[in-house]
Amino acid sequence: MKYSANITTKLIAFHERLAARTADMVDLEKLLKAVLGEVTTLVGASSGSIMVHDPALNRLRLYVSARHPGRIGGRSLPSGTALPVDEGIAGKVFRENAPVIVTDRTKAGESLPWKRRRGGGGFMSLPLCIQRRVIGVLNLNGSPDREGFTDEDVRLVTSLTGSVAALVEKGRLLEEVRRAHDETQRLYDLAVLLSRDEAVETLLGEALRKISGDLEAGRAAVIRFSLPSGHGGEEQPPEIVAAWKFGAEHLKRLSSAVGTSLRTELSLSKRARRADQLGGPPVSLPFRDGKQVLELFCLPLVTIESDSFVLCAIREPRRGDPEAARRHYRFLSLAARQIATALERAEMIEQLRIDKSVLLENALTNEIFLSISTELASTLDPHLVLRKAFDHFNKLVPYTTFTIMLFDEIEQAYHIIVQPSRRLAPAYLRQLREEVVSTFREYPAEPSIDAGRAPMLDVFHPQNPTPGAPAKFRQSMQMPVVLNGKITGMVHLSRVEDVTFGRSDFNKLSQFTAIFVTSIKNALIHKRTEKLAFTDPLTGLYNHRYFQETLLPEFIRSRRYDKPLSLMIIDIDHFKKFNDTWGHLTGDKVLIHVGQVFERSVRSKIDTVARYGGEEFAILLPETPLKGAHLFAERVRAAVEASPVKADGKTLPVTISIGVACTLVTNCTKTSDLIAAADSALYAAKDAGRNQVKTFESEHLEHV
Ligand code: GH3
Ligand code: MG
Ligand code: MG
Repeated sequence: MKYSANITTKLIAFHERLAARTADMVDLEKLLKAVLGEVTTLVGASSGSIMVHDPALNRLRLYVSARHPGRIGGRSLPSGTALPVDEGIAGKVFRENAPVIVTDRTKAGESLPWKRRRGGGGFMSLPLCIQRRVIGVLNLNGSPDREGFTDEDVRLVTSLTGSVAALVEKGRLLEEVRRAHDETQRLYDLAVLLSRDEAVETLLGEALRKISGDLEAGRAAVIRFSLPSGHGGEEQPPEIVAAWKFGAEHLKRLSSAVGTSLRTELSLSKRARRADQLGGPPVSLPFRDGKQVLELFCLPLVTIESDSFVLCAIREPRRGDPEAARRHYRFLSLAARQIATALERAEMIEQLRIDKSVLLENALTNEIFLSISTELASTLDPHLVLRKAFDHFNKLVPYTTFTIMLFDEIEQAYHIIVQPSRRLAPAYLRQLREEVVSTFREYPAEPSIDAGRAPMLDVFHPQNPTPGAPAKFRQSMQMPVVLNGKITGMVHLSRVEDVTFGRSDFNKLSQFTAIFVTSIKNALIHKRTEKLAFTDPLTGLYNHRYFQETLLPEFIRSRRYDKPLSLMIIDIDHFKKFNDTWGHLTGDKVLIHVGQVFERSVRSKIDTVARYGGEEFAILLPETPLKGAHLFAERVRAAVEASPVKADGKTLPVTISIGVACTLVTNCTKTSDLIAAADSALYAAKDAGRNQVKTFESEHLEHV
């Protein structure tokens, strides 16, 4: 195309001015205003507009010049409004990629899609193309008081459309870059915020405030929704995890308004979400708040552990700007991913924290359990087993009292053993005993606590004797002891402090009880076999073997410390005749009876009563001189004589003869010397007429 010198000068001036004005411009709207200003000046138009095609919406976005009336087809339109491509002259120009030039509006053809035909002046609408692709439309209105545009004007403007299109494209790209940069910057800020080392609720609260501000959303919240997990899943009410201007009242209103559709939406959106769907149609629900209809955006926050978190943002809907909603939703989607990551991280940290403390605690617990096991295995004395166990367990679960109740097969009664960690008031022990007994009554125990003798209470010395405990305990826990498949006891822990026993305490007690039960079982079996081996089955007294095994250490001690040790040998008078007259069974009754008389007469835990053999008994009296032993023997003899045996409705008198000897009187070198001396005294008693006591007074045995 050839231009006249005048046009060329104008064009050069135009480009120079435009270049100078737009060089540093990044804002699309300002850029387009500048372009329009220059173009309208150039051709003396009264106003102009540029419409830019938005491929995402397939609409023409309107930008108007400074003096533009801001009205198109009678509608008042703000800058940036998106108009349909199938409307108006501009739409026609865009679709057909062909200019519409009207020299005089009043004479324009009816075929044009005019909305308004008032006023005169010219009009031109030209497509803006880049590489033959139409990207927008340039409209210019001539002054009504002027002739229409000249051919030169049209040629001039047509020659400019390429440059204008390039500027439009530049502006649009710049705007996109700026928007993307803005979005990236905001997302980056959000990421920085969410990765701060603070409580996740605090971080989320701040993130929501930021998101609300950035998106002009009124309220935002992270909500935990429980979606029914298959059949039978209990549905929990939704719960606010973090919020910005979003309270329980909003949640309630939201749930009642869109609860069902929200759940459907969420379960659908959870099923398949691909990254390329991010910019897709916004999941927004209309939501009525009083008279106002609000728009609710809802995005699932999918974490590894849980899939019930949801990001909710509520805003006033902005009509006529679907592009903003799309951008808004896109940003929310990206923000939601970051929030989900933050939630996930918080869940992970929490899990790690729990794991770590569990590991540490387990290590300590295992160590203590190991020493409990080894120590318990090293002894067969039940009392020692208990003491050691109590000591160790206090390190695991602090207690004021540790009580074990077990059925004692030898005693045929329940035995309650209490290990206090401090001194106890009598009222404390009463409360403890009552609770232990009444709790145990609830168990299907074998035997039942009320069946046998009343339970025996044994209180160990406190491990740590100070300070004293108050009169009552505040917390307790217990667990039955199962031995050979039967409930035969109970362990019980009490605490003065009002600190509840937790699940882990219970687990430790359970673990401990398992270890301790095995040990106590072994110890009890051992004690029982030991006792059986040393017990005379008829009378329940110690047998000959036990007597011999006790006599030896007592004899050695007596000689070492020069202390007297006396021995009584007892024989029932005319027992053969008794058996012959009343029968062997009645004879057995006599044996049991006199045994009980002996047991009742002696000092328990010091003297030893044993069935020596047949109808003969022995009583060992440590640290007792001959004189004392003589007196004691006389008392025993009198007691037997005074308590005849009752059998078959008859009262049968029984008498005994006793021989007494003492290590300090008779020069004994071995245990059999003492036995021989007592035996010899017994013969003397028999000889003297029975039912009497004789002592061995001689210093030497030889002459007997
Ligand atoms: P004494 O000692 O007064 O001289 O006369 P004795 O009749 O008691 O004397 P002896 O030692 O001859 O008799 C002991 C009797 O004790 C013999 C035996 O039948 C009886 N005897 C021993 N062991 C038992 C027992 O376990 N049960 C019963 N019923 N009798 C027993
Ligand atoms: Mg005899
Ligand atoms: Mg006899």
